[in-house]
Amino acid sequence: MENVQRYEEILRIFEDKDIRMTSTRKAVVDVFINHGGHMNAEEVYRRTESEKIGLATVYRTIEILKANGIIKELFVNGERLFELGARDNSRFHIHFSCNRCGRLEEYNGALLLNHLVNLKRIVERDWENEVEDMRIVLQGTCKTCLEER
Ligand SMILES: [Zn+2]
Ligand SMILES: [Zn+2]
Repeated sequence: MENVQRYEEILRIFEDKDIRMTSTRKAVVDVFINHGGHMNAEEVYRRTESEKIGLATVYRTIEILKANGIIKELFVNGERLFELGARDNSRFHIHFSCNRCGRLEEYNGALLLNHLVNLKRIVERDWENEVEDMRIVLQGTCKTCLEER
């Protein structure tokens, strides 16, 4: 999705919940939109550095974004990572974490998306719940590490 659209979508969530979009919050939101991947809080902080925002403020903003479903949290190898949430099915994806080099890869694509949407349907049908998000982290040895073996 277009970054501008993504921002407008987030702005609407803020408005719906009566949360003010301050310049600080916008800077943090922009980092997530522009980076697109997974980051820990320090990485988010480094990317907002030009805006002179303190680390504590970055943490607080991350908590607000998380509490409102805008970003989600992943625990990978004991590290807390954040990424933009997948609020619609088209953004479902899975992660692969390498046990050797610690790299986190993101897998997506039409075939995988098909399976993930099916997984959601099966869970909703058989357990009569509503799946709103997904956090899947597969672990193993990545291609690069396998080749070095
Ligand atoms: Zn690896
Ligand atoms: Zn991800």
